[in-house]
Amino acid sequence: MLINHEYIYKILEETKNPSNEQIKDVLKRAKNREGLDYKDIAILLQAEDENDLKEIYSLAGEIKKDIYGKRVVVFAPLYVSDYCVNNCVYCGYKRDNSFNRRRLTMDEVAQEVKILEQMGHKRLALELGEDPVNAPIEYVLECLDTIYKTQNNNGEIRRVNVNIAATTVENYKLLKEKGIGTYILFQETYHKPTYDKMHPKSLKGDYNYHLTAFDRAIKAGIDDVGAGVLFGLADPRFEVLGLMMHNAHLEEKFGVGFHTISVPRLQPAKGVTLENYPHLLDDKMFKKIVAILRIAVPFTGLILSTRETPAMRKELLKYGVSQISAGSSTGVGGYKEREKGKETKQFETNDERSPIEILKELLSDGYIPSYCTACYRKGRTGDRFMSLAKSGNIKYVCEPNALMTLLEFTLDYGDEELYKKSLEIIDKEVENIEREDIKTLTKESMEKMKKGQRDFYL
Ligand code: SAM
Repeated sequence: MLINHEYIYKILEETKNPSNEQIKDVLKRAKNREGLDYKDIAILLQAEDENDLKEIYSLAGEIKKDIYGKRVVVFAPLYVSDYCVNNCVYCGYKRDNSFNRRRLTMDEVAQEVKILEQMGHKRLALELGEDPVNAPIEYVLECLDTIYKTQNNNGEIRRVNVNIAATTVENYKLLKEKGIGTYILFQETYHKPTYDKMHPKSLKGDYNYHLTAFDRAIKAGIDDVGAGVLFGLADPRFEVLGLMMHNAHLEEKFGVGFHTISVPRLQPAKGVTLENYPHLLDDKMFKKIVAILRIAVPFTGLILSTRETPAMRKELLKYGVSQISAGSSTGVGGYKEREKGKETKQFETNDERSPIEILKELLSDGYIPSYCTACYRKGRTGDRFMSLAKSGNIKYVCEPNALMTLLEFTLDYGDEELYKKSLEIIDKEVENIEREDIKTLTKESMEKMKKGQRDFYL
């Protein structure tokens, strides 16, 4: 089996109560970028001592700064259908929940997209439940067409990542043809006995079919895949090692692993309380996991959603998170309904701030919020992206692109306060661009933007 359960149990047992020296040794090798094996990761996962944890956070922070600089990518989810044939125990969309289900018409999709564009979004994650009759692949493809062609004044969506249920190579090919960004699918849990319990009698109930979805997606030509675990279902240490094995499998077979990893924690939802979940992830373990993922897979983006509070998001940005959602609604038609004050959510969220409020905090904390979609539009995907990232050369394009998209947001959607904060950081950071040719190009593009031109990227 791709996820070797016996082996995971064995190394978790062998690395119980690691000594201070063992942890220091792993961190030293991680610092030298020597690559960590499963046992090393298990050692870090079982570190409990506060001083050891501080060292883990500090190394994760250093790695993050080295690779991602001050950039934080911002996006929003778009829910288009809550029809679902599955009965996932933890999910508000489960078929046993009775409520008025619906899918958006194309006019409604366009309406949602316009609201998102008005918030300044350029990157979306398309979300829907699994229902081959009420929301077949043709519906998803139509949504993608609608999203990409819906323009609002100076706004347009430039990259759509797609989170739909595991499907066939043929269907992944169709998604690829529509120009999707990352194909996202959370394994939910790598622990098969828990997976079986959480997905009773349903299409999603086939653990192996779900686990091999990325193999089919990559075979179909999709370069970037985004993984995730729904933390709270099974032992989080098992889940992290499961993620690492899955990633290693893709690296071995296709030469490139996950483009991103999401770290959702279980939230209350319709018909879902958190009472019967013995493995809920507490804050301490959660922070440790984010830091360890940053250390273990430095070049894989880490995504944090509005399931988390503003305080937790602020803290985890320090240890490794590189992408956050902002201004999200997790209900079908939720952006329009929110305006009317009646939104039905897939699960509860804990950061209700608007993108502009979030951007202001990011800027105050010294980050550069980025709406960049350049890599995907320039064909820097899959192994081409990874080799650029690993050589360190990616920063020559990421930094200017982040600054240019921040300026674009500020000009189009900012208020006076944002303008002041953004320009302060943009003017300073543009001078720090190392390559003179790129610095000049960036400055010239920014002047053109101030005169009304848009969408510059390297
Ligand atoms: N239908 C797709 C699938 O089967 O993968 C998309 C799923 S859903 C729209 C997106 C994700 O929300 C799920 O993969 C799951 O991890 C997460 N989710 C479901 N219920 C949740 C809950 N109660 N709390 C937090 N996240 C939840």
